[in-house]
Amino acid sequence: MQLAELNQRLADLGAKPRHIGRITRAWLLGKPLDTGTRHQKTENFLPLSVRQALPTLAGELDGLARLRSEHPGADGSARLLVELADKQMVESVLLPRDGLCISSQVGCAVGCVFCMTGKSGLLRQLSSAEMVAQVVLARRLRPVKKVVFMGMGEPAHNLDNVLEAIDLLGTEGGIGHRNLVFSTVGDPRVFERLPQQQVRPALALSLHTTDAELRRQLLPKAPRIDPEELVELGEAYARAIDYPIQYQWTLLRGINDSQQEMDNLLRLLKGKFAVLNLIPYNSLQDDEFQRPDGDRIVQMVRYLHSRGVLTKVRNSAGQDVDGGCGQLRARAAGLVVQRRSSPLADRT
Ligand code: SF4
Repeated sequence: MQLAELNQRLADLGAKPRHIGRITRAWLLGKPLDTGTRHQKTENFLPLSVRQALPTLAGELDGLARLRSEHPGADGSARLLVELADKQMVESVLLPRDGLCISSQVGCAVGCVFCMTGKSGLLRQLSSAEMVAQVVLARRLRPVKKVVFMGMGEPAHNLDNVLEAIDLLGTEGGIGHRNLVFSTVGDPRVFERLPQQQVRPALALSLHTTDAELRRQLLPKAPRIDPEELVELGEAYARAIDYPIQYQWTLLRGINDSQQEMDNLLRLLKGKFAVLNLIPYNSLQDDEFQRPDGDRIVQMVRYLHSRGVLTKVRNSAGQDVDGGCGQLRARAAGLVVQRRSSPLADRT
């Protein structure tokens, strides 16, 4: 179901925009759809035809995203395995400090070599209502004040639906516009569309390397935008919304942790309206990729930070639970396979 269909269904039942607004807000807050206000009970407000249809509608909305399992992490986060109406599964992650990471696709076509989700390819798009339903589900567990589109999928490949969800969350959903984070590997359409939106979200760009050829290997199906151009596009958007870009950098030992990369990063990001997030790869024991040693990570942060690039280390939430994004779903679906040796392995 798309959000527009939900509105149309209610309108067909005789609901006026103010009725639709109240029902939608109740849903977004994780409350019963017939929740009234302190001053106005539902029976004095919603038309009878609409009230009679609400139980069926509530059942359908609940079915958009059901909690299949919850996996709390030591850091206050919790990974949620979420089942969609057609039994496909995605992951959401409850983040510390009232954040939530949601999925925008089942699987993903970008195929990043270090990502479990990318291994399955794209299975299907999520509708806008399925994305919002992940927020509703999470709000029944704890408050949600920030939503990041960094779960399974590449939001740029499902752009209309993601923007529709962002619009609703940023208007009726009570989430501050900069607390909505659109995360992408970079796609020209994103830079065309985002500045035109009523709700202009914060932007996270997955950079991972300053070497265009290596980036092609790490993110094989990402649009061919050179790192310099990506940073230029990001900078223009950051200035337009007066909010910094978060550059994401999954740290892979021997692949993108060299001094050369650090110096190129300085050249690219110094003076930019940006934050660099170094995300040490979440290695399993026999993994083809490994994270750099702790000392090296500290060294890198100090080097960049002291030379003017605001740099943070971000561990992926709940990594003590079940590895990185996509691993819960892969496990539940019996998709975890022996990891292949990597074509990049000889860079180490
Ligand atoms: S890291 Fe993100 S863009 Fe890359 S394959 Fe995984 S889900 Fe897709």
